This record gives sequence, C-alpha cells and structure tokens, in this order.
Amino acid sequence: QRARDLLRIVIVGHVDHGKSTLVGRLFHDTGSLPEGKYESIKAMCERRGMPFEWAFLMDAMQAERDQGITIDTSQIWFKTDQRDYTIIDAPGHKEFLKNMITGAAQSDAALLIIDAAEGVREQSRRHGYLLHLMGIRQVAVAVNKMDMVDYEQEQFDLIEEEYRDYLSSIGVTPTFVIPVSAREGDNISNQSANMPWYKGPTVVKALDSFLPSAPTVDQPLRFPIQDVYKFDTRRIIAGRIEAGALEVGDELVFSPSNKTAKVASIESWSSRSDFVAPTRAEAGESVGITLDEQIFVERGDIASHVEQAPIETEVFRARLFWLGNEPLSVGKTYKIKLNTFEARVQVQEIERIIDTTDLSATDAQKVERNQVAEVVLRAKRLLALDSFIDSPRTGRFVLVDGYDIAGGGIISMEGYADQRGL
Ligand code: GDP
Repeated sequence: QRARDLLRIVIVGHVDHGKSTLVGRLFHDTGSLPEGKYESIKAMCERRGMPFEWAFLMDAMQAERDQGITIDTSQIWFKTDQRDYTIIDAPGHKEFLKNMITGAAQSDAALLIIDAAEGVREQSRRHGYLLHLMGIRQVAVAVNKMDMVDYEQEQFDLIEEEYRDYLSSIGVTPTFVIPVSAREGDNISNQSANMPWYKGPTVVKALDSFLPSAPTVDQPLRFPIQDVYKFDTRRIIAGRIEAGALEVGDELVFSPSNKTAKVASIESWSSRSDFVAPTRAEAGESVGITLDEQIFVERGDIASHVEQAPIETEVFRARLFWLGNEPLSVGKTYKIKLNTFEARVQVQEIERIIDTTDLSATDAQKVERNQVAEVVLRAKRLLALDSFIDSPRTGRFVLVDGYDIAGGGIISMEGYADQRGL
C-alpha cells in the first residue's frame, strides 16, 4: 500500500479573526479528533458554566502535545479522505513570524483568514506579504464569521475584491476565496446551505486540490556540511542533502574553499549484516560520505557539482524581514546563518524599505521591527550563495544579533557577479 500524501499548511491571519476556531472545526468536521475529545470538552465547558469554543479543541490538543502525549512535538495533524495534513506551527503562536522567516515553518500551502465583519487588516496584508516572500505560492483565503454578516454576498464580495487587489499587487493569486463560518461549520467540510450564492469549493476541498511541493531532487546538488567525523584515517563528511542527488564517483566542489574531490563511498549507520552500502543519495536524506582524497572540509562548507556550484561573493543583495528589537542600520554587523555556515556580515546599504501594508517604498537609514527592506550585506570573506529564485532551500538566511534571531530573508543576486575569478 502506498503511503498517503502529506501536505504541510500554515494558517495565518489577524488575531481574533478565527484561526483557532477554524482549526478546531477542521479537526472535528473531518473526523480527525481523538475519540471522545469533542464530547469531553463540551462536558467540561458545561461543568464550568462557560460557552463552548471550538478553539478549546486546539488548545487541548496542544496541551497534550506539550505534555508529550502525542508523538510529534511541533506539529498537529488532521486527515481528509484524500490525504494527511500537518498544520505547521500553531496559529497565534508568538514565535510564528520567526519560524516563518527562518524556514522552520516550511509549508506547501497557506490558508489566510479574514474576519468578514472586520475586513482586511494590517496583519492580513503583512502575512500575505511574508508568505509570498518565503515562496509559498498555493494560497486559499477564508473569509470567516459570515454568520455575523447574515451570510450576505455583498460583504463577502467587498472583502474578496479588496484582498485580491492587495495580493495581486505583490504577485500572489489566491486560488480560492471562500466564505465560511468556522463557528457554525459553513463551508469548512460541508457545503453551506446558508450561502447558496457561493458555488466554489469548501475549505477542505480547496486544500485537497493543492499539491505537495515538487521534490528538489531534480535541482543542482546542494549538500551543506554539518559535521566532519574522524575515524582512524578516514573522514566522514555528514549533512543533509537539501537539493539534487550525489553518487559514488561524482566529483564534488566544496564552497567557498573550492577544493574538489570524488565521492568514495556513501556511509550508512545500518547494522544489518545483509546491508549493501548505497551508491546514490538524494534530497531530503541525511548522509555521510567519504572522499577519495584528504582535502580540508569543515562545517559550513557546501558541496555541489562543479558545473552547477553556488555563486561566491563577499557582497550580496537581500530582501529581509526585520524582527529585531533594535533597528537594523547601515554599518552594523550581524552574524549570518546560511544553511550550516556562519559568518559576520555588515550592512553596507539599505536600498529601500517596503511598507507591507501599502507597498510604498521609502529611503531610510534604519529598518524597524516588522519592516521589509532591500539591503546590501558585505562579509569579510567569500560566501557561497544561491539566489532564492534558483534554489529556495538554500537561498535564504537568518541574521542574529547577539543571541537573538533578528531577521531573515532571501538572497537576490541581481547585479552581483561571481568573484571566483572564473
Ligand atoms: P484567532 O485569534 O484567530 O485564533 O481567533 P479565535 O479562533 O480565537 O476566535 C476569536 C473569536 O472569534 C472567538 O470568540 C470565536 O468564538 C469567534 N469566532 C471565530 N470564528 C467565528 C465565526 O465563524 N463566527 C462567529 N460569530 N464567531 C467566530
């Protein structure tokens, strides 16, 4: 039997627009809740004389998760007839933006939620912008709390138009905009009889139509080195293959040192006696390899095939989202984390600041918290870089100020030539 498909989704939107309620509903209406969960929470509410909230279901699932009762520690699941879903990160979680920009919250698709009575808010725009910045292209919008506007099409149309206009201005085309009431269960998993004017899919149908991210196996090899282990005379170079594939006999170049060697073996930790060492490994696998020559390789190096190596440069342009308490300013230095590589970089220039709510651009010397900016960063040594467009897995970075993640972004190499001297 084939394993069921898994789709990773993020659910974003302004506070109180109904994210947790929608998650509770999704779990319930798709039959994904543990047996008796719904009933026990309802009974608990009655005992305490408080109204039932769908959001309690999510809170309860998270509490269990935090106590380690459910298996995974960072994600929650639900399933439809079609496949399994992971909700990446919890809605409303305070680390959410940070997880999104650092790639900890990598997802295949997003569901954006807007309150039908309140309409498009600043966070609806900012979240839409961030999804786009981080490369999430499959987006559905749920216009929630339709029960509060008497399920009227007019109000829905207004919000749909306003939000579509904004999203299209940043290059996002939402695949679906769906009128729902998470609380009442309209158009979540069941087609609503309260909105006969809506002919599109339910939230569940819309999600089911999205595709898991294309495998990165077909892309150029990117193998960031995590560790180098020394055993007697051998060295095992370990890491996770982020893109592409490698085979025994392949010549690899290690950037930014530019040393080359051939893959002698792919190691595995299997203890089975009938085990045959693999001759090929691909994106998504964590492997150790040995080389045919003793060259100096260290954590932070990135291995690739010579003809499709990353660019090497000291200066690059990036689009970043700033989360630091202190503004980012010209001349300041930060630690950059690029895959497994770390170095110091200095802010050489702030080219412009983009207001994510109205997309106006301004010149400035500082980037404040929650702002997006195009900046030029400079390191004292060569960095091996990919642009985000060419390589979404490796074309992103995080800036650290002291011990705190202060920003993150994507690399755009326009205008910066390879300095390898080729
Ligand atoms: P979050 O902050 O986005 O997770 O929002 P919550 O899910 O906690 O919902 C905020 C408030 O809106 C709660 O009081 C919910 O009961 C209420 N709410 C959520 N969805 C609906 C809905 O479809 N209709 C109505 N009338 N209220 C809703």
